[in-house]
Amino acid sequence: MKKIQMVDLKSQYDKIATTVNASIQEVLDTNTYINGPQVHQFQKSLEEYLDVKHVIPCANGTDALQIAMMGLDLKPGDEVITADFTFAATVEVIALLQLTPVLVDVDMDNMNISIEGIKRAITPKTKAIVPVHLFGRAANMGAIMALAKEHNLYVIEDNAQAIGANCKFSDGTKKKAGTIGHVGSTSFFPSKNLGCYGDGGAIFTNDDALAHKLRGIVNHGMYERYHHDVVGVNSRLDSIQAAVLNAKLALLDQYNEARRTAAAKYNAAFSGHSNITIPEFDLNGDDHVFHQYTLRIINANRDGLMQYLLDKGIPCAIYYPIPLHSQKAYVDSRYKEDHFPVTNQLVKEVISLPMHTELDDEQIKFITDSVLEFLK
Ligand SMILES: *Cc1c(COP(=O)(O)O)cnc(C)c1O
Repeated sequence: MKKIQMVDLKSQYDKIATTVNASIQEVLDTNTYINGPQVHQFQKSLEEYLDVKHVIPCANGTDALQIAMMGLDLKPGDEVITADFTFAATVEVIALLQLTPVLVDVDMDNMNISIEGIKRAITPKTKAIVPVHLFGRAANMGAIMALAKEHNLYVIEDNAQAIGANCKFSDGTKKKAGTIGHVGSTSFFPSKNLGCYGDGGAIFTNDDALAHKLRGIVNHGMYERYHHDVVGVNSRLDSIQAAVLNAKLALLDQYNEARRTAAAKYNAAFSGHSNITIPEFDLNGDDHVFHQYTLRIINANRDGLMQYLLDKGIPCAIYYPIPLHSQKAYVDSRYKEDHFPVTNQLVKEVISLPMHTELDDEQIKFITDSVLEFLK
């Protein structure tokens, strides 16, 4: 059996090496390392793929979130609501811009931000909601957009984990995650569903004026050369990374389908087990692109299972072991433990198994057999 990896980027690369190498070689031959034609081409291709008017490439997913918020003219002290159960980057940029993060609990069934939690957290100072499409599953954007409209709030989607996922609305229409709020962001970190071979990110919006503003912010606040109209940053996607992304974007749907197929095989093995809650998803649907495959281990020794798997050479991980409201950098006397019952439970129960585009049946069987053996 091939060695099991949490994310197998090498096996994936081996299959696309010719295309990717040629794409990178083109950058080397023309030596247009910054703002080369590859960046522009990727921007256009991603706009088309996502069906969004504007993609603004930038240096990474954390910058993308920060720049998205800078574009919205939020003022220090404005409250921004986001999920307690996510990667720290989301809350980090809120705090960095001197906005006030307001963490709310998530829902048990989809691990995404709780609509009831958002409702309870809205105050006259609230200016924005940042839903995260966690682990690849689209958040409930219909309900979030309705709340935002009612309270006149911005919605900034952190789509670092769910590029390609669709959000389905009550009228049956679908839109790509990241393109529904006023602005969305993503990351092209190598292990993300659309990963480059270094750092990369992008911002999405359908708002022409906001897009113009964001294009200046990523480039030192310049709209005309050496005229700095706003305080900006230096955040660029370089041409070599864009060249990699051009080769991989064409394969994104196929890659996400491979992840769903692996998830369905895992689910089939674990379904009905009294100690395991599987991530339910619609096999024919596309609202979940499985950035992570995350189980809840109920009334059993989750940490023992993790050690057991690691000892057998099966990588696994806890995303995320500590709620954000308990992190030193983000403690706030307004938070009470009973505001976060679901997150507090999830951090003790979740375990993520290997998930990538190259898992084969032998590996999946070895992993599922090992989990079931431990929980016997
Ligand atoms: C990866 C990630 C980010 C940050 O992306 P980087 O490119 O690593 O800066 C932000 N939010 C979430 C939810 C992520 O998973």
